[in-house]
Amino acid sequence: MRASPLNSNQCYEQTLELLQQRGVEVADIADIVMFLQKDYIPDLSWETCVESVQSVLKKREVQNALFTGIQLDILAEEKKLLTPLQDIIETDEPLYGIDEVLALAIVNLYGSIGFTNYGYVDKMKYGKLKDLNDKSFGVHTFLDDLVGAIAAAASSRIAHRHKQKAEEQECM
Ligand code: MG
Repeated sequence: MRASPLNSNQCYEQTLELLQQRGVEVADIADIVMFLQKDYIPDLSWETCVESVQSVLKKREVQNALFTGIQLDILAEEKKLLTPLQDIIETDEPLYGIDEVLALAIVNLYGSIGFTNYGYVDKMKYGKLKDLNDKSFGVHTFLDDLVGAIAAAASSRIAHRHKQKAEEQECM
């Protein structure tokens, strides 16, 4: 078996670095998580949102989706893709759809509540997602969906844990 070229810690660090290079901080995603969950969990803390985003970002499936999507965004910015993909990604062609498909790989990790959250986040364009949708800041055809998916996944994770805690307390 060939050894993986990178260990998990390096991949996580590179994920954070790459997101930062593209203008996205963990705090930006935690903001969206807070927005999604605050009505359901009134005592939800900021630290819980940050911790949940970090935990989602530690998954290799999530990192791989980010590496792939961000790479395509960058190549489109540098006009290095082949026709017709160059135009499709550069103009964020609405019928392309592969950006959403890639993001679903992240949403899928946390079950059906993730889908609901993802759909909602995609519609609301809350916080950082609004900036990423502004075409004057560069090509973020993939990144906007990926960030929305990470927020949706982190929210679902919190919702599942909240329910589990509530049930444990009922049993006591
Ligand atoms: Mg998109």
